[in-house]
Amino acid sequence: MCRGCGAQIQLQHLLARKDKLFVNAVQDTGKETYIKIKYFVVYQQESDNPTLEQIKAQHQVINDDINMQNSDTYKVPTSGKYAFSDVRGSMSLFFLPKFSENLTEVEIVRIQSDSIPAGGFDGIDSVEDFINGIGYSVPEKNIMNVYIVPLNGSENIIGQAYLMSNRIAIVPGTLPGSKVLLGQNTGRTATHEIGHALGLPHTFQGTCDEPAFFSDIPLQKLPNNTGATLFETESGWEGISDNRFRDCNQPNYNLQDLSPPYSCLDVVGCATTNYEMFMNFMDYNVDKNLIMFSQQQTKAAREFIYSSDVFTLLFDTAETVPKNNSVIWISLGIVLGIVLIVALTVYFVRRKKKQTRTSPT
Ligand SMILES: [Zn+2]
Repeated sequence: MCRGCGAQIQLQHLLARKDKLFVNAVQDTGKETYIKIKYFVVYQQESDNPTLEQIKAQHQVINDDINMQNSDTYKVPTSGKYAFSDVRGSMSLFFLPKFSENLTEVEIVRIQSDSIPAGGFDGIDSVEDFINGIGYSVPEKNIMNVYIVPLNGSENIIGQAYLMSNRIAIVPGTLPGSKVLLGQNTGRTATHEIGHALGLPHTFQGTCDEPAFFSDIPLQKLPNNTGATLFETESGWEGISDNRFRDCNQPNYNLQDLSPPYSCLDVVGCATTNYEMFMNFMDYNVDKNLIMFSQQQTKAAREFIYSSDVFTLLFDTAETVPKNNSVIWISLGIVLGIVLIVALTVYFVRRKKKQTRTSPT
């Protein structure tokens, strides 16, 4: 299933809008930056109403991914054809609450309705019309609006976003813990859509003639879909089945419905290290293979949030991580266990010494 994003807004459109953006008076000094977020769940069946724990997990995935704190960031190869680890980037941007443990129902609006269109909404606009029709006012200004809603299943849309906006939509099956969309159920559809909202186009642009939009991402004309995979070898991580790999390993890796070349092979040949960055959040792939933004992408996202008027940027948060009771109890258990073992050891050693002393010789 493809991570469809509705109408693909072309690069020209993106560039045309960039000049018209409101220029925020705040200058980017590189400080950690915060933006408020709100989750709107619109559901009919209870099975489409995610738990608080699922939304917390989703929130964590977004903040981890955009800040290079995802636990699988180490998988980006450091050598070989996919040596992109040096160009990984962090946005230094957190959607509040910074720590997902602090997320509560206050940041979530849940709307149950029996009149959701059959087959799901056909896009963000219809979602907002629907929510506003029952008395809300979305998109809420100055925050990131995340709609967790059924989308048009016939077109396999699992997420949607407007470029340079504060509005994204994802289907509940993409949330961590969902059993519906296997392979795309760890929350990275939201990361991808947030990338669009923060101004990032796809890594594939449909042509090999234009200069790369981000010079730290190799030219790419087609999505890699789910074929491209990272795997571990004795000498590190290696990739297989991305578009350039297919071109260089014909005919074994032909795509059935497309003709090669699948990559911009004439630009750089097979012997180079310039293979495609299929592990980029802005490509199409299964969640486990989407693990990085490039430095130029994260820089562009910050430029967008600092130049746009769609968010209020915050710079201070007194927020702390709540004390985790289970961790405290486990720690206490370990300490008591050690004390008990030491006490028993001392007891038995003394007893043995005593026996040795008292036994007849
Ligand atoms: Zn997309």
